[in-house]
Amino acid sequence: MIFLDNASTTKINKHVNDLIYKINCEDFYNPSALYEKSIDVQNLIEEAKQNIANILNAKASNIVFTSGATEANNTAILGLSTNNKNAEYIFSAGEHPSVIEVANLLKSQGKIVHFVNLTQAGIVDEEHFKSLLNKNTSLVSIMHVSNETGAINDIKKLCSLAKKINPNCVFHCDGVQAIAKIPVDINNLGVDSYSCSAHKFHGPKGVGFVYIKNLNKLKPLLVGGGQQHGYRSGTENVSGILGMSLALSLANENINESHIKANEFRKNFVDKIKTNLNNYIINESENNSPYILSVSFKNLKGEIILHMLEKYGVLIGTGSACSSKKSNNAVLQNMKRDKSYILGSIRISFSRNNTLEEINEASDRLIDVVKELTEKVA
Ligand code: PMP
Repeated sequence: MIFLDNASTTKINKHVNDLIYKINCEDFYNPSALYEKSIDVQNLIEEAKQNIANILNAKASNIVFTSGATEANNTAILGLSTNNKNAEYIFSAGEHPSVIEVANLLKSQGKIVHFVNLTQAGIVDEEHFKSLLNKNTSLVSIMHVSNETGAINDIKKLCSLAKKINPNCVFHCDGVQAIAKIPVDINNLGVDSYSCSAHKFHGPKGVGFVYIKNLNKLKPLLVGGGQQHGYRSGTENVSGILGMSLALSLANENINESHIKANEFRKNFVDKIKTNLNNYIINESENNSPYILSVSFKNLKGEIILHMLEKYGVLIGTGSACSSKKSNNAVLQNMKRDKSYILGSIRISFSRNNTLEEINEASDRLIDVVKELTEKVA
């Protein structure tokens, strides 16, 4: 099996899995209990938090562990939203459903919600963004790297634009497809909150974190036993947290090498498509993540391409796994792609585990499949 849907999830790293097993068998104590074994576990959590904070240049005390990025995004946006009636919210139209649905929830509660358009390259349209900003802008949410196309937003610039208009506005960033893939310096970005999910970089599923600069302003999403200083109740996913920390360290050690590899893989696909096919659009920005390649083929169906490739043992995606059951692709639509192309969209996403042999094989298969389908349509 050639796995090229790594933006949806990745295979867990063996060392990470071994560590998780060890923690669950040997250090399984509840970190909130009073005996020494539990204090040791609590210390392990603190070490993991410090390690994550060091890698991403953030303060450890600003990190709250969650069950993943869906919870992280919900926590940041709902937890930092205000009751002020005049407050306005800006979301990029390219956000993942775990942000878009929060925007829709706020809207249904009567809040003033704006969606900022994407350019045809898939990044936030700066002019439109500027036109939406005003003194009442209380929260902005713009993702770092698009999970659909890999387009990279200039978060530092967008954040400073927002703060110039309203220094008190909260700037949230979904960093899921950025962390461990491109260098992330949270402090330098200037954001108020940033979210992460471990399974996107060979860590375990069901664990992540949210960085929150002003935790004193956070209304916790989950209340209960008061764990994590009351910011997120619930017994910590100890093995998951430690596994995430190790996965991040391992990915970070090889971040440049993996980036070069992903570039090579992506280029292989792009070159093959350009040489062999017609009537396609590569959905990309000037500054794009090499880990994601989004292509739209005219008058074809992405889902059929996916299943034909599956028969050859190649797994790809048609877009965000969380919205793959929906027939439309709101992100590509916002990028003004024609309907005749949108349905024919596929997403190929790489990881450092892939090999050039796999990529050669998979890209050859893709060409065969698209040629075959194009002949049928003609
Ligand atoms: N944001 C982005 C950009 C994502 O790609 C994903 C995962 N598809 C999420 C948020 C949600 O992550 P999780 O499902 O791990 O909560």
